[in-house]
Amino acid sequence: MRQLVCTGARELQWHEVPQPRLQHDGDAIVRPRAVARCEIDPFLTSGLFPMKAPFAVGHEAVVEIVELADGVSSNSALAVGKLAVVAFQLSCGRCRSCGAGHSGNCDEYPVLSDYGMQPLSGVEYGGMLSDAVRVPHAAAMLCPIPEGLDPVGLASVSDNVLDGYRTVASHLAQRPGSEVLVVSHGSRSISLYAVQTAIALGASSVDFASDDADARSLASKLGAHPIETDFARRQKRYPIVADCGVRGEGLRYAIESTEPEGICHSATYLPGGDLALPVGKLYTLGIQFHIGRAHAVSLLPEVMPLIAERRLRPEEVTTRVVDWEEAPTAWLEDSIKLVVTRD
Ligand SMILES: [Zn+2]
Ligand SMILES: [Zn+2]
Repeated sequence: MRQLVCTGARELQWHEVPQPRLQHDGDAIVRPRAVARCEIDPFLTSGLFPMKAPFAVGHEAVVEIVELADGVSSNSALAVGKLAVVAFQLSCGRCRSCGAGHSGNCDEYPVLSDYGMQPLSGVEYGGMLSDAVRVPHAAAMLCPIPEGLDPVGLASVSDNVLDGYRTVASHLAQRPGSEVLVVSHGSRSISLYAVQTAIALGASSVDFASDDADARSLASKLGAHPIETDFARRQKRYPIVADCGVRGEGLRYAIESTEPEGICHSATYLPGGDLALPVGKLYTLGIQFHIGRAHAVSLLPEVMPLIAERRLRPEEVTTRVVDWEEAPTAWLEDSIKLVVTRD
């Protein structure tokens, strides 16, 4: 079968690789139908990380179930032919961490065990730009998509949609009707999914601070109030701040913009390494600072009903859709949210 692999910095090629087979009781074999590019993908293919090429690319997907091991079909809502979102992180769904809602750090797998991220984990679990992928723990890792919804629009639900969602959802539940600030400094789609979530879950207003004109324009269309900033000086303080990006100045601006006793939730990934944080300020003002990766298996059952009710419409963030054959070039070109699709 064919699989898209990264063979060097900014080099993608289709390779012929062995077809995956069912190995364990809980397994499924799936055929990716729509694959979205995650905010981390450009860093993985850029050569920034020490590269053990070739590695399989892609980890956000809607897939068609083509084979189920015994013990899955009889025990779950899954069936051959159904479309499902596949969690990008490998998670068993039943260990202590998974049970606590922390499936991204499942006890059964080494840290960063994800599809398409061999440069980070050191392990090749396969990539979604493949003709077939093996999914272990299928009952936990596959979440069927609602009937009638276009898989293209839901391709990013396995990761970046959840990333945006979790920066605001639980905080708005705790402080209903709060004003929300979304700070966007690189992870454009994640910040826009955060905007959608904040509006859907009843924020009284959503401001969107960014130095990126395209992101501000799309945020405005989604119902947020755009603020142009270079992150040097805050506009005001907010009770809930979602920090989405890749730059230290953006993260510092997000903290500066959080009210005393407010909540700043960071989905920021700093590809350049760590940075100094104003911990004294966080302490003195009692700001709750949250940071960490999304937990795909734990969050999917919470987010999918909102999508089914059309309260969340991830397709409105998609800016480019290309055919499967265009993946090797389109994957390396700039766009807010790229989706690669096939029938
Ligand atoms: Zn990702
Ligand atoms: Zn687990």
